[in-house]
Amino acid sequence: MLSNFSYIRPKSLNEASKQLATDGARLFAGGTDLLGCLRDHVFEMNKMVSISSLKELKGIKKTADGGIRIGSLTTISEVSENPLVSAQYRALAQAAREVASPQLRNQGTIGGNICQKPRCWYYRGEFHCLRKGGDTCFAVSGENQYHCILEGGPCFIVHPSDTAPALVAFQASVHIAGPKGIRTVAVEKFHVLPNVDVLRETVLEPGEIVTEILLPPAQGVKSSYRKVRTRASWDFALAGLALAIKFNGDVIAGARAVLSGAAPIPWRSPEIENAIIGRRLDESIAAKAAESAMMNAGPLAQNDYKIPLFHGMIEEELLATQKAS
Ligand SMILES: Cc1cc2nc3c(=O)[nH]c(=O)nc-3n(C[C@H](O)[C@H](O)[C@H](O)COP(=O)(O)OP(=O)(O)OC[C@H]3O[C@@H](n4cnc5c(N)ncnc54)[C@H](O)[C@@H]3O)c2cc1C
Repeated sequence: MLSNFSYIRPKSLNEASKQLATDGARLFAGGTDLLGCLRDHVFEMNKMVSISSLKELKGIKKTADGGIRIGSLTTISEVSENPLVSAQYRALAQAAREVASPQLRNQGTIGGNICQKPRCWYYRGEFHCLRKGGDTCFAVSGENQYHCILEGGPCFIVHPSDTAPALVAFQASVHIAGPKGIRTVAVEKFHVLPNVDVLRETVLEPGEIVTEILLPPAQGVKSSYRKVRTRASWDFALAGLALAIKFNGDVIAGARAVLSGAAPIPWRSPEIENAIIGRRLDESIAAKAAESAMMNAGPLAQNDYKIPLFHGMIEEELLATQKAS
């Protein structure tokens, strides 16, 4: 049973931000994650602030520099189908298509997707874990087959969003509006590691709202998002990779590689990037890149299967992206 709360639908961003800055208030975008958290008593709420009437937060537009701007209330379905996204940001369109199920993609927003709470079953269950202010990460000695293998500790969640790794690969940034004004943060710096602050997943402060996501131009960049999961649909990544690669002829001039299903935040892999930049991709380079990506992996008792899974997937995806149009 949900506890009582008030429901507010502000008419302006300013008002929404003011309402959200009060204790116990939560932002409602599409509600697909928020309502689950409330039903599971992950946290309590006394005021739901719906931003659904803020039309300025919806839609996808070209920007003057040749990039695009995606309003945070744009649904994941719209992102997956938009021609501006597919034309320059193939990895983002692919990642959006990999999210959850058609129903959830129609209701869930891109802003909510990058701000969603982690899926750890201890955090979502009746456990007073570290992330809920307790003193134990139950995954360490518990069921940890879906937890992280990189940058874990003191909590071992994996970051759940499929779109965030693609956004990091394209060097996207978010505009954030809040009580102190507007600020811009690179998506790469938006998520917070547990060893920095175990009680939060993002840099958002009380009252702050992600208003839009900005992607710089990416002409000539070959990109892809690959996700491996247990079920063919409606499942989070066991292992994933977003790639954005610039070729000069058949030599790699620049690359960004970001892992999902690996770490508590979308995990940029300089090891992959360094192994491929300045080279022609072949099987041996792809294998070396995959191996170096997992060099620092520290699996828990039940998730070391992720290491060979990442090896194979990274190798395959590097070679496939080279051939992609
Ligand atoms: C069964 C199931 C399977 C799923 N599978 C996947 C999957 O495979 N891949 C994947 O990526 N996701 C998956 N998801 C997560 C889903 O994509 C998210 O629930 C959805 O994207 C959240 O969007 P929303 O608009 O519904 O957010 P909401 O539920 O409204 O909000 C989610 C959180 O973000 C905050 N928030 C929302 N918008 C903003 C904003 N603009 N500014 C600041 N804070 C904000 C809210 O306060 C809340 O804490 C799954 C969810 C479910 C229920």
